[in-house]
Amino acid sequence: MDTLPLFHNLRGARCVVVGAGEVAARKLDLLLRADAAVEVIAPQSCAAISQLAEAGRITLLARAYQRDDLSGASLVIAATDDPAVNKQVSEHARAQFTPVNVVDSPDLCTVIFPSIVDRSPVQIAIGTNGTAPVLARMLRTQLEALLPGGLGNLAELAGRLRKKVKVNIPGESERKAFWEKVFQGPIAELMYSGRSQTAEDSFNTLLTASANTKLKGEVYLVGGGPGDPDLLTLRALRLMQQADIVLYDRLISDAVLDRVRRDSERIYVGKKAGEHPVTQANINEKLVEFARAGKRVLRLKGGDPFIFGRGGEEIEHLSAHGITFQVVPGVTAASGCASYAGIPLTHRDYAQSVIFQTGHRKGDTVDLDWDILAKPNQTLVFYMALNGLKYICDKLQKHGLSAEMPAALVENGTRPEQRVLTGDLQTLPAIIEQYDIKAPTLLIVGEVVTLRNTLSWFGEEGSNG
Ligand code: SAH
Repeated sequence: MDTLPLFHNLRGARCVVVGAGEVAARKLDLLLRADAAVEVIAPQSCAAISQLAEAGRITLLARAYQRDDLSGASLVIAATDDPAVNKQVSEHARAQFTPVNVVDSPDLCTVIFPSIVDRSPVQIAIGTNGTAPVLARMLRTQLEALLPGGLGNLAELAGRLRKKVKVNIPGESERKAFWEKVFQGPIAELMYSGRSQTAEDSFNTLLTASANTKLKGEVYLVGGGPGDPDLLTLRALRLMQQADIVLYDRLISDAVLDRVRRDSERIYVGKKAGEHPVTQANINEKLVEFARAGKRVLRLKGGDPFIFGRGGEEIEHLSAHGITFQVVPGVTAASGCASYAGIPLTHRDYAQSVIFQTGHRKGDTVDLDWDILAKPNQTLVFYMALNGLKYICDKLQKHGLSAEMPAALVENGTRPEQRVLTGDLQTLPAIIEQYDIKAPTLLIVGEVVTLRNTLSWFGEEGSNG
């Protein structure tokens, strides 16, 4: 983050605006909406500013700027058409640690005005750190269209009844669930359509009904996909936003984790060589324990929970303990990596089937049914195959696949750092040795790999072709 967005309480605070043209007038309007005590300093002023001064809404000093004009100011804005004066104002303000904004000169600013969506008391501020104001305005337009006009009324109602809710529903999780019902259900709709009394009555009815109910916990077993957060399902995203607590794996990318509700508790349960692994039994116990405590538990797994994800074992355990759960599929690594590498897994000219296979090595071998795997007209996708890669390539050749059968290793599929290394069963093991390969990686074997020559589309640096 280049800057930290904060909301500034300026009620009654002295704000100095140097300059009194049209641009100054626009900023001034925002300051007045925040109830600031505005003082404008400029030898000449535009009509709008003169009128505000006449109406007694601002103080206008019709003279040139002087250094001591800034003393006691909470915020300073320089909006003159003289760059030298703007620069001076900026220097003076910074010397006394007063936040300063200089119009159209990001380098001279310590604070920047965002694009604002105002549904007071709900406010959304959008900033691009001065890089793309037009983009900020476009986003603002989109948000304006998305957010109901009555959102502010709803927040105002919530603010007024907040204490009452706290007294009536002392449990934190229960209270969160109550507020979610208020903000997502018919009470919100009533407020949006201006029926505030009916809304408040419904609110009180719901409050009485919720006061003595103990929340039942639940587990959401969610597939987080291979890494690109845009590949999350809508349902995954919704549940990620609702969870009180999240248990996540090593395969969950930072970008996906970032979409989980900010104030949820996060527990890493991944396994990494050299560290104490959290056992599967441990994870199963934790899920039950948290759900029994009334929490909405997000079990977030890479890819799809039912494909080499041990999701089945986890929900078996939950089912045996009477815990409610739901399962959300995710884009599995085979689909994600193949799409982002430009390798259509079952292009009909080359493959009539695809096999998802674990390539996990046990000791020195990978124990698989090689005769079934080493057949023509099919695509093989090996998960967890990095350590056993040479062994797998050798075995496939021994059981009848040609040494020239194309093969690709996809590293960090769908993520910005994705790399794809291609070769064939004979050359691929040596090729990957020249690269510093890191998990996660996926091995794809089959004629379809050659299609990548024309179909690759995702930005990749560091791939071999
Ligand atoms: N449930 C997961 C798979 C878990 S097994 C899924 O459906 O995708 C872990 C293996 O998945 C890794 O060893 C790797 O082979 C593969 N994998 C997962 N994410 C990947 C990614 N972004 N890029 C490449 N391989 C990935």
